[in-house]
Amino acid sequence: MAANGKSFLIDTTKCTACRSCQVACKQWNELEAESTTNRGTYENPPDLSANTWVLVHFKESAQSDGTVAWNFARNSCRHCVDAPCKQRAESGDSITIDEETGAVLFGEGTQSESFDTIRQACPFNIPRQGTDGQMYKCTMCVDRVHNGELPACAKTCPVGAIQFGDRQDMLDAADARLAAIQSDYPDAAILDRNEARLLLLLGDKQSMYTTVVGA
Ligand code: SF4
Repeated sequence: MAANGKSFLIDTTKCTACRSCQVACKQWNELEAESTTNRGTYENPPDLSANTWVLVHFKESAQSDGTVAWNFARNSCRHCVDAPCKQRAESGDSITIDEETGAVLFGEGTQSESFDTIRQACPFNIPRQGTDGQMYKCTMCVDRVHNGELPACAKTCPVGAIQFGDRQDMLDAADARLAAIQSDYPDAAILDRNEARLLLLLGDKQSMYTTVVGA
């Protein structure tokens, strides 16, 4: 793998839940829109699917002063460094690791894998199965990255909540950002720092982001 591959840094303290990342992912990957209903939340659609690879979760919590706190966090494949989904796959070709970036990629061969096995192997409940039997999720936009472009979500985020680059640079940026915000966000933490290529920097306790952490 080239150097140590690539990583995302998702800074939830900057995210405004505009969901430009969701739209950019669908546009670049030509994924169909979902048919949804109003569930009383701005979170939409309600879940990842074969056609929704990036989702911004909303968690609304009543505060003691009568106000409501909103916490937003992006959910998508973490591109695990030692991906459990790949470890459980029967075939070495159905789930592959991109040499340049370290991205975990689902191919047509996932049609022949057990969906239950692959989904249960994933600690983050990410894989989804399409009507064609193939499994789908974020690709890290390797087609863009191989041509020197940022992933579509990182390119489009208007507030800089999604950074993407060499893994060590993202680890350093995550550590620096955590140190910089800890006086304002005493419960801030970087989730799965050593295990994931998607570094999720939460500004609040994990319990405030239940739909992401416990998905
Ligand atoms: Fe595989 Fe799940 Fe890790 Fe993505 S988050 S690489 S689907 S185990």
